[in-house]
Amino acid sequence: MYVGLPHLFVRFWNCNMNCHYCDTDFRGPYQEISSKELLEEIQTQIHTSGPFHAISLTGGEPLLWTKFLKQILPDLKAAKQTIYLETNGTLPHSLREIQPWVDIVAMDIKPPSATADRAYWAEHAEFLKTAAESGKEVFVKIVVTAQTVLSEIEQAVALVAGVNPAIPFILQPVTPWGAVKERPSAEQLEQWRATARRQLNDVRIIPQVHRILGVR
Ligand code: SF4
Repeated sequence: MYVGLPHLFVRFWNCNMNCHYCDTDFRGPYQEISSKELLEEIQTQIHTSGPFHAISLTGGEPLLWTKFLKQILPDLKAAKQTIYLETNGTLPHSLREIQPWVDIVAMDIKPPSATADRAYWAEHAEFLKTAAESGKEVFVKIVVTAQTVLSEIEQAVALVAGVNPAIPFILQPVTPWGAVKERPSAEQLEQWRATARRQLNDVRIIPQVHRILGVR
Protein backbone atom coordinates (compact mmCIF):
# COMPACT_ATOMS: atom_id res chain seq x y z
CA MET A 1 0.00 0.00 0.00
CA TYR A 2 2.85 2.36 0.76
CA VAL A 3 5.34 1.31 -1.89
CA GLY A 4 7.87 4.07 -2.46
CA LEU A 5 7.60 5.68 0.96
CA PRO A 6 10.55 5.23 3.32
CA HIS A 7 9.99 3.04 6.37
CA LEU A 8 12.41 2.33 9.17
CA PHE A 9 12.37 -1.44 9.73
CA VAL A 10 12.67 -2.89 13.22
CA ARG A 11 13.11 -6.61 12.65
CA PHE A 12 12.14 -8.99 15.43
CA TRP A 13 13.66 -12.42 15.85
CA ASN A 14 11.66 -15.64 15.51
CA CYS A 15 8.30 -16.54 14.03
CA ASN A 16 5.45 -18.92 14.86
CA MET A 17 5.15 -19.99 11.20
CA ASN A 18 7.43 -21.58 8.66
CA CYS A 19 6.41 -20.39 5.18
CA HIS A 20 8.36 -22.13 2.43
CA TYR A 21 8.97 -18.83 0.60
CA CYS A 22 10.20 -16.97 3.71
CA ASP A 23 13.10 -14.66 2.81
CA THR A 24 14.00 -13.63 6.36
CA ASP A 25 16.72 -15.35 8.36
CA PHE A 26 14.73 -14.79 11.54
CA ARG A 27 16.15 -17.80 13.34
CA GLY A 28 19.74 -16.87 12.55
CA PRO A 29 22.08 -14.57 14.47
CA TYR A 30 20.41 -11.71 16.28
CA GLN A 31 21.36 -8.67 18.27
CA GLU A 32 19.91 -8.45 21.76
CA ILE A 33 19.00 -4.87 22.51
CA SER A 34 17.27 -3.12 25.40
CA SER A 35 14.21 -0.96 24.86
CA LYS A 36 16.28 2.11 25.77
CA GLU A 37 18.99 1.20 23.24
CA LEU A 38 16.42 0.59 20.53
CA LEU A 39 14.69 3.92 21.15
CA GLU A 40 18.08 5.66 20.95
CA GLU A 41 18.92 3.83 17.72
CA ILE A 42 15.59 4.79 16.19
CA GLN A 43 16.19 8.43 17.11
CA THR A 44 19.64 8.25 15.50
CA GLN A 45 18.17 6.76 12.32
CA ILE A 46 15.44 9.41 12.19
CA HIS A 47 18.08 12.10 12.61
CA THR A 48 20.47 10.72 9.97
CA SER A 49 18.09 9.15 7.40
CA GLY A 50 14.58 10.34 8.27
CA PRO A 51 11.95 11.47 8.34
CA PHE A 52 10.22 8.16 7.71
CA HIS A 53 6.64 7.61 6.71
CA ALA A 54 6.45 5.03 9.50
CA ILE A 55 8.36 2.84 11.90
CA SER A 56 7.70 -0.64 10.56
CA LEU A 57 7.57 -3.48 13.11
CA THR A 58 8.40 -6.60 11.20
CA GLY A 59 10.23 -9.89 11.56
CA GLY A 60 9.93 -12.79 11.95
CA GLU A 61 6.72 -12.08 13.81
CA PRO A 62 6.77 -8.91 15.93
CA LEU A 63 3.68 -9.96 17.91
CA LEU A 64 5.78 -12.62 19.65
CA TRP A 65 7.36 -9.66 21.50
CA THR A 66 4.42 -7.75 22.97
CA LYS A 67 6.07 -7.27 26.38
CA PHE A 68 8.99 -5.51 24.70
CA LEU A 69 6.73 -3.60 22.31
CA LYS A 70 4.77 -2.20 25.25
CA GLN A 71 8.05 -0.73 26.49
CA ILE A 72 8.85 1.14 23.26
CA LEU A 73 5.57 2.01 21.55
CA PRO A 74 4.28 4.64 24.01
CA ASP A 75 7.54 6.59 23.61
CA LEU A 76 7.44 6.33 19.81
CA LYS A 77 3.84 7.54 19.76
CA ALA A 78 4.74 10.39 22.12
CA ALA A 79 7.40 11.32 19.55
CA LYS A 80 4.61 11.42 16.93
CA GLN A 81 5.89 8.46 14.93
CA THR A 82 3.48 6.46 12.79
CA ILE A 83 3.57 2.79 13.83
CA TYR A 84 3.12 0.22 11.07
CA LEU A 85 2.69 -3.40 12.13
CA GLU A 86 3.60 -6.09 9.63
CA THR A 87 2.25 -9.40 10.87
CA ASN A 88 1.24 -12.87 9.82
CA GLY A 89 -2.18 -12.21 11.35
CA THR A 90 -2.40 -15.31 13.55
CA LEU A 91 -2.06 -13.82 17.05
CA PRO A 92 -5.19 -11.75 17.76
CA HIS A 93 -4.68 -11.70 21.54
CA SER A 94 -1.24 -10.21 21.08
CA LEU A 95 -2.62 -7.59 18.70
CA ARG A 96 -5.10 -6.48 21.37
CA GLU A 97 -2.22 -5.91 23.79
CA ILE A 98 -0.46 -3.33 21.61
CA GLN A 99 -3.34 -2.06 19.49
CA PRO A 100 -3.60 1.35 21.18
CA TRP A 101 -0.21 2.36 19.81
CA VAL A 102 -0.49 0.92 16.29
CA ASP A 103 -1.64 3.12 13.40
CA ILE A 104 -1.52 0.75 10.42
CA VAL A 105 -1.97 -3.03 10.46
CA ALA A 106 -0.54 -4.82 7.42
CA MET A 107 -1.90 -8.32 7.89
CA ASP A 108 -0.85 -11.37 5.93
CA ILE A 109 -3.13 -14.28 5.20
CA LYS A 110 -1.18 -17.54 5.04
CA PRO A 111 -2.98 -20.30 3.14
CA PRO A 112 -1.92 -23.92 3.76
CA SER A 113 -0.07 -24.08 0.42
CA ALA A 114 2.28 -21.37 1.74
CA THR A 115 2.96 -22.83 5.14
CA ALA A 116 2.79 -26.59 4.59
CA ASP A 117 1.04 -26.46 7.94
CA ARG A 118 -2.53 -26.57 9.19
CA ALA A 119 -4.93 -23.85 8.05
CA TYR A 120 -5.10 -20.69 10.15
CA TRP A 121 -8.46 -19.41 8.85
CA ALA A 122 -10.05 -19.08 12.30
CA GLU A 123 -7.08 -17.14 13.71
CA HIS A 124 -6.96 -14.93 10.61
CA ALA A 125 -10.69 -14.17 10.88
CA GLU A 126 -10.46 -13.22 14.54
CA PHE A 127 -7.35 -11.16 13.88
CA LEU A 128 -8.88 -9.19 11.01
CA LYS A 129 -12.08 -8.56 12.95
CA THR A 130 -10.04 -7.32 15.91
CA ALA A 131 -7.97 -4.99 13.72
CA ALA A 132 -10.98 -3.66 11.81
CA GLU A 133 -13.06 -3.05 14.93
CA SER A 134 -10.24 -1.03 16.44
CA GLY A 135 -10.81 1.66 13.83
CA LYS A 136 -7.14 1.53 12.81
CA GLU A 137 -6.11 1.37 9.18
CA VAL A 138 -5.85 -2.23 8.05
CA PHE A 139 -5.15 -4.02 4.82
CA VAL A 140 -4.58 -7.64 3.90
CA LYS A 141 -1.80 -9.13 1.84
CA ILE A 142 -1.49 -12.67 0.55
CA VAL A 143 1.76 -13.84 -0.99
CA VAL A 144 0.79 -16.04 -3.91
CA THR A 145 2.92 -18.74 -5.49
CA ALA A 146 2.58 -21.08 -8.45
CA GLN A 147 1.21 -23.62 -5.92
CA THR A 148 -1.55 -21.35 -4.61
CA VAL A 149 -4.95 -22.82 -5.45
CA LEU A 150 -8.12 -20.94 -6.34
CA SER A 151 -10.03 -22.31 -3.35
CA GLU A 152 -7.52 -20.66 -1.02
CA ILE A 153 -8.03 -17.29 -2.72
CA GLU A 154 -11.79 -17.78 -2.49
CA GLN A 155 -11.54 -18.57 1.21
CA ALA A 156 -9.31 -15.56 1.89
CA VAL A 157 -11.64 -13.27 -0.06
CA ALA A 158 -14.70 -14.56 1.79
CA LEU A 159 -12.91 -13.99 5.08
CA VAL A 160 -12.14 -10.35 4.21
CA ALA A 161 -15.56 -9.71 2.70
CA GLY A 162 -17.16 -11.07 5.88
CA VAL A 163 -15.41 -8.39 7.92
CA ASN A 164 -15.55 -5.45 5.49
CA PRO A 165 -15.39 -5.59 1.67
CA ALA A 166 -13.72 -2.17 1.65
CA ILE A 167 -10.56 -3.53 3.30
CA PRO A 168 -7.81 -3.39 0.65
CA PHE A 169 -6.69 -6.84 -0.52
CA ILE A 170 -3.24 -7.24 -2.05
CA LEU A 171 -2.07 -10.19 -4.11
CA GLN A 172 1.71 -10.32 -3.94
CA PRO A 173 3.36 -12.70 -6.43
CA VAL A 174 6.35 -14.41 -4.85
CA THR A 175 9.79 -13.72 -6.32
CA PRO A 176 11.78 -16.87 -7.17
CA TRP A 177 14.53 -17.13 -4.57
CA GLY A 178 16.13 -20.00 -2.66
CA ALA A 179 13.66 -22.89 -2.55
CA VAL A 180 11.14 -20.95 -4.66
CA LYS A 181 11.83 -21.74 -8.30
CA GLU A 182 8.88 -20.17 -10.09
CA ARG A 183 6.43 -17.33 -9.82
CA PRO A 184 2.67 -17.58 -10.45
CA SER A 185 1.69 -17.07 -14.06
CA ALA A 186 -0.04 -13.96 -15.39
CA GLU A 187 -3.12 -16.13 -16.04
CA GLN A 188 -3.21 -17.32 -12.42
CA LEU A 189 -2.85 -13.76 -11.15
CA GLU A 190 -5.64 -12.50 -13.36
CA GLN A 191 -7.96 -15.33 -12.30
CA TRP A 192 -7.29 -14.63 -8.61
CA ARG A 193 -7.63 -10.84 -9.07
CA ALA A 194 -10.98 -11.22 -10.87
CA THR A 195 -12.20 -13.66 -8.20
CA ALA A 196 -11.30 -11.24 -5.42
CA ARG A 197 -12.77 -8.22 -7.20
CA ARG A 198 -16.18 -9.88 -7.37
CA GLN A 199 -16.49 -9.51 -3.58
CA LEU A 200 -14.02 -6.81 -2.60
CA ASN A 201 -13.81 -3.13 -3.54
CA ASP A 202 -10.03 -2.61 -3.55
CA VAL A 203 -7.91 -5.41 -5.02
CA ARG A 204 -4.30 -4.79 -6.03
CA ILE A 205 -1.35 -6.77 -7.36
CA ILE A 206 1.91 -5.49 -5.87
CA PRO A 207 5.24 -7.26 -6.47
CA GLN A 208 7.84 -7.85 -3.77
CA VAL A 209 9.61 -4.55 -4.26
CA HIS A 210 12.21 -5.30 -1.56
CA ARG A 211 13.38 -8.29 -3.59
CA ILE A 212 13.47 -6.30 -6.84
CA LEU A 213 15.62 -3.67 -5.10
CA GLY A 214 17.77 -6.22 -3.28
CA VAL A 215 16.66 -4.91 0.14
CA ARG A 216 16.46 -7.50 2.95
S1 SF4 B 1 5.13 -15.53 8.66
FE1 SF4 B 1 6.60 -14.19 7.59
S2 SF4 B 1 8.49 -14.29 8.84
FE2 SF4 B 1 7.16 -16.02 9.47
S3 SF4 B 1 7.86 -17.76 8.24
FE3 SF4 B 1 6.15 -16.80 7.13
S4 SF4 B 1 7.11 -15.32 5.72
FE4 SF4 B 1 8.66 -15.88 7.26
